[in-house]
Amino acid sequence: MISKELIVDTTVELLRQAVTRLPSDVKKALEDAYEREEDEVPRAQLKAILDNVALAEEGSLPMCQDTGIPIFFVDLGNVEVDNVQEAIIEGVKEGTKVIPLRPNAVHPITRKNPGTNVGEHMPYINCRMSDNDHIEIGVMPKGAGSENMSALKMLTPAAGLKGIKQFALDVLLNAGSKPCPPTILGMGIGGSADISIKMGKESLLRPLDQRHPDPDIAQLEEELYTTLNEIGIGPMGLGGKTSILGVKIEYAACHTASLPVAINVQCWAARRAACRIHPDGRVEYTTHGGD
Ligand code: SF4
Repeated sequence: MISKELIVDTTVELLRQAVTRLPSDVKKALEDAYEREEDEVPRAQLKAILDNVALAEEGSLPMCQDTGIPIFFVDLGNVEVDNVQEAIIEGVKEGTKVIPLRPNAVHPITRKNPGTNVGEHMPYINCRMSDNDHIEIGVMPKGAGSENMSALKMLTPAAGLKGIKQFALDVLLNAGSKPCPPTILGMGIGGSADISIKMGKESLLRPLDQRHPDPDIAQLEEELYTTLNEIGIGPMGLGGKTSILGVKIEYAACHTASLPVAINVQCWAARRAACRIHPDGRVEYTTHGGD
């Protein structure tokens, strides 16, 4: 049985990795962008971001003051596990104290802050079933600056691909400098309103260098990445060739009379970390390496 204590400790470690170290694909995308930019202003912005990332890594400190809200993705395999939900909640409380994380989670109406990043439905745990002989836990502590720019549109089927591309452009233009660009767009196309929103966020779990397995979707990711970078918002909104680091898309079949499209905007501080926990107690960190 995978013990509760192990899940608590692993939760703290995942949160620490996510807020203090960028996954290698995001870091590489920022480094490549720095090489690609020719003008002084975007290069200076990217250099400041990369220096900040290096300092955070060195000192094991959060790379941004906004350490997000704790969103988890759990794949429950064919293994016995002690209470995962309780363990993750405890891990979030502990991580908030020891990493430390900014206590961001408040009551939506009273705005009361318990100071623990724990509240009603928070941490939010997306749970999936799998046939694996291990469990997988992923975390994406999402900051408000980027999340606030996310959007859903219920397009008509007639709007089609053109409408989807236009919506992506509108979201990016409306966001401007607010989500600390360069950003990553996580798009959910199809399903229903709620499914598309969920897929948009989940698509951000896929590394930037991994295209969608469906060639048509992969092509759309590539096309949007190229065309949206031509609008010139640039790093931190000060102009340049790099407005986005990538576009990730997930899709689902939808009703013949609808075309939901959701876009989850992620900032350069693309915090995510994941691991596998095996029944023998071995923990494999899959985004940041190490056991
Ligand atoms: S948008 Fe991202 S980088 Fe900007 S303040 Fe929020 S968490 Fe930090």
